[in-house]
Amino acid sequence: MNREFQAIVVGAGPAGSSAALTMARAGLDVALIERGTFPGEKNMFGGLLHRMTSIEEVFPDFWERAPLERHIAKKGTTFMTGDASFHVQHECTGFDRTPYNGYTVFRPRFDRWLAEEAVAAGATLINRSTVEDLVIKNGRIAGVTIAGRKGEICAPVVVAADGVLSFTAKKAGLRQPRFSPDQMAVGVKALFDMPKEVIDDRFGLVRDQGFANEYVGVTAGVRGGGFLYTNYDTVSVGIVVHISSLRDSGKTPYDLLNSFLEQPQFTKLLRGGRLMEYSAHVIPEGGYAMLPELYGDGILVAGDAAALCNATGVNLEGINLASHSGILAARTVIDAFERKDFSRKTLKRYKERLDLSWVMQDLKGFRNAPKMLHIDRIYNEYPELVCSMMEHIYRIDGTPKTSIPKLMLREAREKIGLKNLLGDLFTAWRAL
Ligand SMILES: Cc1cc2nc3c(=O)[nH]c(=O)nc-3n(C[C@H](O)[C@H](O)[C@H](O)COP(=O)(O)OP(=O)(O)OC[C@H]3O[C@@H](n4cnc5c(N)ncnc54)[C@H](O)[C@@H]3O)c2cc1C
Repeated sequence: MNREFQAIVVGAGPAGSSAALTMARAGLDVALIERGTFPGEKNMFGGLLHRMTSIEEVFPDFWERAPLERHIAKKGTTFMTGDASFHVQHECTGFDRTPYNGYTVFRPRFDRWLAEEAVAAGATLINRSTVEDLVIKNGRIAGVTIAGRKGEICAPVVVAADGVLSFTAKKAGLRQPRFSPDQMAVGVKALFDMPKEVIDDRFGLVRDQGFANEYVGVTAGVRGGGFLYTNYDTVSVGIVVHISSLRDSGKTPYDLLNSFLEQPQFTKLLRGGRLMEYSAHVIPEGGYAMLPELYGDGILVAGDAAALCNATGVNLEGINLASHSGILAARTVIDAFERKDFSRKTLKRYKERLDLSWVMQDLKGFRNAPKMLHIDRIYNEYPELVCSMMEHIYRIDGTPKTSIPKLMLREAREKIGLKNLLGDLFTAWRAL
């Protein structure tokens, strides 16, 4: 197992494979180490791959080459209570032509493809290998060790791209031993098999158009929400809930998922679908406040390992941040080789690059979003308010109507309280 490389990447998710691909294309001898039998085997997400120009620079014909399911032409949000729902939706022709705004993908297929591109560029992919420790020589990181195997894989620089629980970043002392449960969410997902024509008819889609929908009010008061994404001939549905709120509720993620799937307004969307699999994964949702140290002597941290995930409540962005940070980490390693210096002094350029990029600008811009997502009323009282108001507006039964502003005021006072409403609006304003 003793092998020497010029760089090591731990984890063949979007961050790791983007980093390995960029370094390999620049001629570096890079090892991409993955614990799964193949890249993507253990990876799941909602999921929507959002458009990113950096990957289009790597692959100018990205949407033709990558294994994509459907491009997202329609996006919606549904407010739900036990017996009512109110839906808003956006659709535009701009999202229906290349370059598309986003795609549904399957992680086992997509992650594998991206890693294979890194291999085609010259990277060495080492599967079935869990990195368990860092090798330190003369006080510097000099490589990694693999669980259950003798020997070391050596390189003067390591990119930690091993996901949200990054063991590698922790070992390097770059992140806290534990994140607060307030900053972490867990997602559980069920995948349903459904013929393409049924999906097209049911969700009003043609060609390879796709639909993405978020649900508010479906998590029994636990902070979180539901999602539905159409793939080519399957539908992904699931929930994402904050771990601290889940713990306080005493409920389990699968109880919440099951009651979501059983809601009458939702069940009919899955009629005839065959349940194929369940999966679950943790999400770093603390935003800017959660970022660990991003570099040290001989090490850089990218993607979820660095908590580079942006959950604004409107979009959940992770893969695009992971891939872009992987590319920036790789460019910094390439610079370090030119300077023959892998110390913090050179590697700090990674943080500077991130600060200048949309990744950090977005995370900074939305740094108050996690605070908004902690308003418990969003998950119960507001969906009730929206659904009840719409019911009053649509109901015509031969009795005098209340004017709409008066109705809004009455409902807001009854369901939220005017002081709370003003406070929540202020928090939302700052967050968004
Ligand atoms: C339910 C859910 C829904 C989501 N929805 C979206 C969405 O719609 N859009 C979006 O952009 N993002 C979404 N995300 C977030 C997104 O999935 C992540 O931000 C993204 O996967 C991060 O990529 P990464 O490469 O940093 O980490 P990962 O994808 O987690 O990859 C890490 C890799 O490292 C490997 N690994 C871990 N430890 C070791 C080790 N010790 N040794 C070797 N290999 C190791 C893993 O097997 C894995 O392949 C969602 C996440 C969840 C859980």
